[in-house]
Amino acid sequence: MLSALPEWNLFPAVLRGKIRLQDSEVTNPIAVGDRVRYEIDGEPSMENPASIMEVLPRKNYVIRKSTNLSHQAHIIAANLDKAYIIVTLQFPHIKLPFLDRILVTCEVYNVPAAIVLNKMDLLREVCPEQIADFHRIYDSTGYQILEISAKTGEGVDALRQDCSNRICLFSGESGVGKSSIIKALDPSLDPKIGDISIAHLQGKHTTSLYEMYNISSDGFIIDSPGLRGFGLVDVEKEEVATYFPEMLRASENCRFTPCTHTHEPGCAVKAAVEAGAISPERYSSYLGMLDEEKKYR
Ligand code: GDP
Ligand code: ZN
Repeated sequence: MLSALPEWNLFPAVLRGKIRLQDSEVTNPIAVGDRVRYEIDGEPSMENPASIMEVLPRKNYVIRKSTNLSHQAHIIAANLDKAYIIVTLQFPHIKLPFLDRILVTCEVYNVPAAIVLNKMDLLREVCPEQIADFHRIYDSTGYQILEISAKTGEGVDALRQDCSNRICLFSGESGVGKSSIIKALDPSLDPKIGDISIAHLQGKHTTSLYEMYNISSDGFIIDSPGLRGFGLVDVEKEEVATYFPEMLRASENCRFTPCTHTHEPGCAVKAAVEAGAISPERYSSYLGMLDEEKKYR
C-alpha cells in the first residue's frame, strides 16, 4: 500500500528537547522519511525554525546497530515503500554475504526490496558468466532483479517507472554507481553536490549523511551512503531463516518446527540446497548470520 506523497517544500525545523530524550535505544530520535507534527509562528526561516513536536508512528524503518558492543541502534530511514539494493559484480567485486545481510534487514523491517544490478554494459564485456551465476543464486529468492547501466541508459526507464510515486531507499556500497543512477533517473539532480538536500538545512551539528531527493517522475529517493553492513537488531536465532524467502517457503516441509536447518534430520531446506533449488551461497550467508548471532549474544 502506498502512502500519499508529501509536497516537496523545504524549511528549517528543530527538535524539541523532549523528543530528543524519548528513546534511548536509538542514537537518532528522528530519521529521514519521518513524518512529524510541527508548530510554527509565521514564516519558517533559519532564525525562525519550525518546532517539531512529535514524530508520528512509522509504518516501517531500517536500522543499523551502532557498534557490536553498544546496544544502541541508528535508524537509517523511515516510512519506505521500497528499497533498491544497488550492486555490480566487478569494480567493485560483489560481496554476497553483505548483500544478503541487507536483504534480510529489509525483510525484518518489512520493506519490499529489489536488487539493481548496475554496469551491465561492462559486465557483459568482462564477465558474462558471472551474470548467469548471479541469476542462478538469486532467481530462486524471488527478489526482483533490475538490470541496468547508468552509463548507456539501459533499464533506466524501467527503474524510473518502478520507483515513481514511491518513497524509496537507494542503498549500495561506494563505487557501484549509485550517484550515476540517481543522475540518470533525473539529470537535474547532482547527488555529489547535493545542493537541494535537507542535510544542508540541518545546520552544522548534523551527523546524518542521508539525503532525500524529489525526482521528476514524482518519487522520492533516499540516498544512503555506502553501508558497512547492517547489524541485526531484535532477531532471534530461530527466526533468521524466515527472512530468507526461499528458505521460508522450503521450511514448510521440514520434519521439525522450529528447525535451524543445520543438523536436524528431515530438513527440507538442506534437501533443497542439495537439489540446487536453494543456492549454496545463500545458505552459506545464512549459516554465517547464525554464527554471528551466537557471537554477539
Ligand atoms: P557511487 O560511489 O556508488 O555513487 O558510484 P559513482 O556513481 O560515483 O560511480 C562509480 C564509477 O562507476 C564511476 O567511475 C562511474 O563512471 C562508473 N559507473 C557508474 N555506472 C556505470 C555503468 O553503468 N557502467 C559503467 N561502465 N560504469 C559505470
Ligand atoms: Zn529445516
